[in-house]
Amino acid sequence: MDLVTVFTKFPTQQACIDHLEEARWGDQPVCPFCGSDRVARKKENQRVGRWNCHKCRNSYNVLTGTIFKATRIPLQKWFVGIAILLNAKKSVSSLQLARDLDLTPPTAWRMGMQIRKAMVDDAVFLKGIVEADETYIGGKPRGKRKDDDDPPKRGRGTKKQPVIGALARGGKVIAEPSERVTGKTLKAFLASVVKADDSVLVTDEFSGYNRMGEWVPHMTINHAVAYAEGLIHTNTIEGFWSLVKRAIFGQHHHYSKAHTAAYIVEACYKYNNRNNADAFEQFLAGTVTI
Ligand SMILES: [Zn+2]
Repeated sequence: MDLVTVFTKFPTQQACIDHLEEARWGDQPVCPFCGSDRVARKKENQRVGRWNCHKCRNSYNVLTGTIFKATRIPLQKWFVGIAILLNAKKSVSSLQLARDLDLTPPTAWRMGMQIRKAMVDDAVFLKGIVEADETYIGGKPRGKRKDDDDPPKRGRGTKKQPVIGALARGGKVIAEPSERVTGKTLKAFLASVVKADDSVLVTDEFSGYNRMGEWVPHMTINHAVAYAEGLIHTNTIEGFWSLVKRAIFGQHHHYSKAHTAAYIVEACYKYNNRNNADAFEQFLAGTVTI
C-alpha cells in the first residue's frame, strides 16, 4: 500500500484500532488469553478499544499479544512504518525510518525489528525445481573453491555468517543463518522445507550436497565449467543472495551478526510477497501476532 493511501485510510488512532479489529477478528472478537468468544466491549472512555473476557476475566484490546503491544507510538506511525518497510526493495535503515516517522533512531530501530519479527512466514514448503545454495554474509569466497574436500572449513576463522537457503523456481524462498555448513546441517534444513516427492533439487558441486540424492532427486551444476546447463543452474537463488547483501550492506551500515536472522526474514518475506498486491493488509490481518 502506498503511503498516501495509508495516511488517508488511517487518519486517527481510532481508525487504526477499528481497522485492526476488523482485520484480525472480523465479526467475532476473540480473547487472546483463553480463546473464548464470550467477550464484550468495555465501557470506558479513556482507553480505546478495550474488551472484557467473561470466561477468564481478563481485559485486553486488539493490540494485546501483537507487535504493537504497550506501544506509545501512534498506530498511524506504525502503519506507515510497515508500509515503508514492505515497499522498500532493499530494506530501510533505522535512521531513514526515524527521519520519515519523526522518531528517535533507537525507537525507529526497535520498531523496525518488531515489524521484522512479524514477517516470519511459517508455512513455507517448497516443490518443483528447487535451487539450494549457501552464502556468507560478509562475503563468500570467490573463484574456485580449493577447500571443497573439507566443507566445514568454508568461512571458518572469519567473522562471516553462513546462511543456507532453498528457492523454488517461480515460487518461494526460505533461508536461515546456520552455525556451520556441512552435509548434515544442509540436509536437516533442506529436508524440512523441500517436498521430496514433488521436487528436483539443483545445487552446485559443493561436497556438502553430495548425499542429497539419497532423499530427493538431485542435479548439480559444475560452476568450474558453466553457470547453467539449460534448467540446471542456481542463478535464481544467487540473485536472491545478492538482494540480501545489497539490503544489508546498502542500508544497515552498523550491521551486526546478531541481527542477520531478522534481515534474512525480511528479505525472504519480501521475495515471497513480491507479487502480492495485498501484502500490507495481510500483514495486519495475520502476522502481527508475536
Ligand atoms: Zn479470556
